[in-house]
Amino acid sequence: MQEYDVIVVGKGNAALCAAISARDQGAKVAMLEAASEDESGGNSRFAGGVMRFAYSSVDDLKRVTDLTDEDVATSDFGTNTREEFLDTLYQLTSYRTDPELSEILVNQSLDTMAWLRSKGVRFVPNFGRQSGLVNGRRIFFGRMPIEVSGGGAGLVQYLDAAAKKQGIDVFFETRAASLVYDGERVSGVRVQQKGKALEIRAGAVVLACGGFEANPEWRTRYLGPGWELAKVRGTRFNVGDGLRMALEIGASPYGNWSGCHATGWDRYAPEFGDVNVGDQFQKHSYIFGLLINARGKRFVDEGVDFHSFTYAKYGGEVLKQPAQFAWQVFDSKVKHLLRSEYRIKFVTKVAANTLEELAPQLEGVDAEAFLKTVREFNAAVRKDVRFDHTIKDGKGTVGIDPPKSNWAQALDTPPFEAYATTCGITFTFGGLRVDRETGQVLNVHFHKIPGLYCCGEMLGGLFYFNYPSGTGLVSGSVFGRIAGTAAGKATKAA
Ligand SMILES: Cc1cc2nc3c(=O)[nH]c(=O)nc-3n(C[C@H](O)[C@H](O)[C@H](O)COP(=O)(O)OP(=O)(O)OC[C@H]3O[C@@H](n4cnc5c(N)ncnc54)[C@H](O)[C@@H]3O)c2cc1C
Repeated sequence: MQEYDVIVVGKGNAALCAAISARDQGAKVAMLEAASEDESGGNSRFAGGVMRFAYSSVDDLKRVTDLTDEDVATSDFGTNTREEFLDTLYQLTSYRTDPELSEILVNQSLDTMAWLRSKGVRFVPNFGRQSGLVNGRRIFFGRMPIEVSGGGAGLVQYLDAAAKKQGIDVFFETRAASLVYDGERVSGVRVQQKGKALEIRAGAVVLACGGFEANPEWRTRYLGPGWELAKVRGTRFNVGDGLRMALEIGASPYGNWSGCHATGWDRYAPEFGDVNVGDQFQKHSYIFGLLINARGKRFVDEGVDFHSFTYAKYGGEVLKQPAQFAWQVFDSKVKHLLRSEYRIKFVTKVAANTLEELAPQLEGVDAEAFLKTVREFNAAVRKDVRFDHTIKDGKGTVGIDPPKSNWAQALDTPPFEAYATTCGITFTFGGLRVDRETGQVLNVHFHKIPGLYCCGEMLGGLFYFNYPSGTGLVSGSVFGRIAGTAAGKATKAA
């Protein structure tokens, strides 16, 4: 039985930020990671690494990354002011996001990015996936011009190095099973460590061990029938352990428990994420093509907005289709716009020189109905508006349902390509209710549970129905820092 000031459960981004922050308060800190070292790092390690934070000038961006004079001269980085960031969160969550939590997230996002940098995380401009050239100038789509060098895997590596430098102990293959709780305060964790049951004592416990996305039984229970059939985009270790442990001692559940982040994902991707492929099973360029189900029909407005604002809910739409799949169909006019994930080795793709030759290759699809859908779609495309992939161009359809609101072009230029997708779940939205100032978990009567904190995916109340890309990592860092600092301070003051 070891004694620590603070135990952090998990070793993803939120946990690492919490552990480092607790250590900064002088606390003796241990991290418990269910996975082996090889598989450690949670969903954070699978993340693409784009990060959404509030900035209103190039000077703000310079707090986060080095920008050369040439970068500044040749780019329009735009803005993501606090107001813009909050508007996005409110609009995408149908005005359900917790006002206080979202304000903390937005207001602390830039400082937290600068803090991450001070801990050794390297950020770079997101020239690859989130920008384009317009009249010789680089512009960024989706208000997210910065990403972590090396993606989520890079982020975890940088933070691992910082944790090691600060003398934080990490225990791998150590799955937290329950909280040590005497009815008044939490004072440790019971764990399964390499087949042995142990108890590790601490002044405070920070739960940062993810949602329940990798647990098919919980997915069916909370998200609904059919969700057990989703593929898991990331780690297999986030099975709801932290949520269960906290609920067992009377913590208050909060947020959108029947909601989750889920995207289009290769139909034949493995059951869980593959660290060698990372996020590349995703297929986010559907805005330039058509999404076709087994009945040969379209079922969403592919172009209602940039993918950053629809991708997290369209996975769920694919799951609702017969046999849980959709083909993304493109013609050669947009081939150059397809993101890098369309060119990986493991991809379920067919191609043909005519639509009639393509149709029977779309496994599981009613070919005649597909051809009819394309004919009707092509006829409905507005010809009086110019296609422009760098803005919401208003080049939509007229008279079909569902419409396509932007980037609608007739599918008429061979060769044609189609990619088979299903639903890949990223993370679940339901979580715990916390005290806003400290990240301390509240009980069902909204009283703080002494000694218990949480952050990351486990925090409820921020995301409902949908999610703006790049917010998960920033949220984990902001609230990880808050919880870790408060836990560290509390144990040093005790
Ligand atoms: C493919 C993919 C791409 C993504 N891309 C982006 C992106 O570009 N930008 C962005 O902002 N977000 C992205 N996300 C979302 C983002 O990764 C998550 O929101 C974020 O990483 C969650 O961090 P976390 O620390 O809360 O959880 P995780 O990083 O999942 O960490 C949870 C940790 O808890 C451990 N654990 C679980 N149960 C136990 C237990 N009982 N005992 C001990 N340890 C346990 C796990 O092993 C893991 O280490 C992406 C996610 C995926 C899957």
